[in-house]
Amino acid sequence: MATDNRATAMPAWKYQAWNLAEALAAFAADGLKTVSARDYRTRLETCDGCGRRRGNRCLECGCYLSIKARGRAFRCPLSKWHERQNGSGSSAEG
Ligand code: SF4
Repeated sequence: MATDNRATAMPAWKYQAWNLAEALAAFAADGLKTVSARDYRTRLETCDGCGRRRGNRCLECGCYLSIKARGRAFRCPLSKWHERQNGSGSSAEG
């Protein structure tokens, strides 16, 4: 009998690798911009209230949230982040 462990298991490593490659390409295309400190906190607070968070990981995409929440181009796979879209991003450098 098969069991559905989607609720607690990380995505397959191939899916995680694909997500990471897509996210990094988007991050590079966006000029390595990061979100404001306020938007970063808001993103992580949203994750705090999400049933798909396990520690620092997102069970939907497998990403590390403390990193994922930082990049302006990174997206919540369930579209739960609703920060200002035209906010002032800053370069990831420095
Ligand atoms: S990134 Fe989205 S789906 Fe993942 S834990 Fe945060 S709010 Fe939930």
